Amino acid sequence: MWRDQPGLTAAGILLPWLGASLLVAVLLGTGEIGVGVAVAVSAASLVLSVLVTVVSQRVLLSAARRATTGFGPGAADGDPEPRLNPPARALRSAVQRLDRTWREHAAQAEARLAAAEAVIAAAPNPLILIDRQRRIVRSNEAAAAFIGPGAEPRDLAVALRNPLLLAAADAVLAGEPGRSIEFTLSVPIERVLRAHLAKLDGPALDDAAAILTLHDVTALKRSEQMRADFIANAGHELKTPLATLIGFIETLLGPAREDAAARERFLGIMREQAGRMARLVDDLLSLSRIELNEHVAPTGRVALGPLVDEVARGLELRAAERGIRIARALPADLPEVQGDRDELAQIFQNLFDNAVKYGRPHSEVTVTGATGGAAAALVQVTVADRGEGIASEHLPRLTERFYRVDTARSRELGGTGLGLAIVKHILNRHRGRLEIASEVGRGSTFTVWLRAAGPPIALSALQGGEGGDPSRQRGGG
Ligand code: ADP
Repeated sequence: MWRDQPGLTAAGILLPWLGASLLVAVLLGTGEIGVGVAVAVSAASLVLSVLVTVVSQRVLLSAARRATTGFGPGAADGDPEPRLNPPARALRSAVQRLDRTWREHAAQAEARLAAAEAVIAAAPNPLILIDRQRRIVRSNEAAAAFIGPGAEPRDLAVALRNPLLLAAADAVLAGEPGRSIEFTLSVPIERVLRAHLAKLDGPALDDAAAILTLHDVTALKRSEQMRADFIANAGHELKTPLATLIGFIETLLGPAREDAAARERFLGIMREQAGRMARLVDDLLSLSRIELNEHVAPTGRVALGPLVDEVARGLELRAAERGIRIARALPADLPEVQGDRDELAQIFQNLFDNAVKYGRPHSEVTVTGATGGAAAALVQVTVADRGEGIASEHLPRLTERFYRVDTARSRELGGTGLGLAIVKHILNRHRGRLEIASEVGRGSTFTVWLRAAGPPIALSALQGGEGGDPSRQRGGG
């Protein structure tokens, strides 16, 4: 860091020598000294100047060197303090202050860099930094699922080949402050993404010129679509019987006013259509009420045997009309389940109703039960019919609202297309599940899985007796 400066050295020698020579010239001019003495003195002063300058520079340089040892990058802490004269000490303390400030700035810059990197890495949404040439220079882990593996930097177009997105990136790189767009990725699965591009001004990580954030809005879009479809479906389902009712009312008020036989027949159809509307409204209200409570698991205890009997008895008349018998074979020791009695009744009401509707005339519907899962913590009830069965491609969609294998047939049998959707939502609330198996031409089985309730609370525990903490005894299930 310290070097001999030839300019300085020459000045250090020449200036004193010129001063001495000037004095000698004056003395020579005034005749005080002779030419020989003058030359000798001038030569001696030149030699002396050279000696003094060189020696003093060496001393100064060595002092400066010692004063500044142990500073700058790579300097080790704990180096012994050199012994210094006062000017060198002053120099050392000035350099020390500078060194400290520099170290503080460097530490701050490093901390900021680390914080920026940590923010990028921890961001749950995909985050991509691009430079002026639209190359990806940095991305976080969440982005990997969208841009795939690949060395950086690489053009954004290689990772996300979408014209809308690339146009937005180009616009932002050309000076636009920000842009939001929505685009669809079709590989490996179809996803809808909302992208936001923002220009980065000032110094940024890896020369990034813009930041691209992605939000996967596929689920949101799907649920928006489902909601729209649901409203359209519900409207359509209500409109058909309503149109029939209006038509018959017009007929009864007009041409059939005096026709007693037609009135009798039309009123029958009207009652049926009004019943269908009422069932639909009931099912819609049920569904919305269950959905509203779906996050709160029920806390009651229900014995399934008596409940299944009660529901089956209510359907016996309708079953008998088709010559169908509901045979119950639930084990007497089937444990109680955790649940809401009315909602569980609704499950079996819908399953028996379907079994009777879609079962073959003069066949049998069987209801069986068992325990399952680890430590018999689950209770299963299976409703099996001998009907036409359901083709396997329909099975995954049966619990969707308004999904029917044969819409006309379901309507003709008085179905709303909401029964199994209600069953699924009740089971969601009960943290249970529904399994459907079917064989075309042979029949279908619907198995309901529920959680067994814990052991009943001893009366002594409730009365503060020896049983201890009742909440502990209720645990499990
Ligand atoms: P629906 O009111 O139409 O019966 P669900 O939601 O209860 O509506 O059932 C949806 C569809 O599943 C029915 O339309 C029918 O096609 C089919 N399905 C339900 N249960 C059975 C069954 N036991 N046998 C055959 N098909 C069934």
